[in-house]
Amino acid sequence: MTDHTEYRVTALRDGTVIDHLPPGMALKALEFIGHEGGNIVTVGMYLDSRKYGKKDLIKLENKELNEAEIAKIAILGPHTTLAIIRDYRVVAKVAVNIGDEIAAVATCPNPTCITNHDDLRTRFHVMNRHPLRVRCHYCERVVTEAELEVT
Ligand SMILES: [Zn+2]
Repeated sequence: MTDHTEYRVTALRDGTVIDHLPPGMALKALEFIGHEGGNIVTVGMYLDSRKYGKKDLIKLENKELNEAEIAKIAILGPHTTLAIIRDYRVVAKVAVNIGDEIAAVATCPNPTCITNHDDLRTRFHVMNRHPLRVRCHYCERVVTEAELEVT
């Protein structure tokens, strides 16, 4: 059987393939990453995935993600992987995992939380990964994935 994912990967000279995003999340992911003009961005949505039914995929030419971007992508779903491509070859594959803490990439939904008033980077302790549930380090509010606004 032809592996379509590998085919798409080899078509990219330098850049990153974000694979196995949950279906429908590609545009959200692009919002997090931003986009520098001039480079090719290929977005596949609701592609067939043998493992998970459906998935989204993004191909970014001439782009490797930084730590903050990876942390944001991690919030979107549990199965996401990154493949870093250099000169048409996959030089690294990275599973995008949520650690024990989410720092600085999301805002606390509690309007009275100190992080919404002082110039303080947010910190959330991860209580549960799937579905995502975190607790604000400062106000101790428990925040669900839907409430967590990624910045
Ligand atoms: Zn808070």
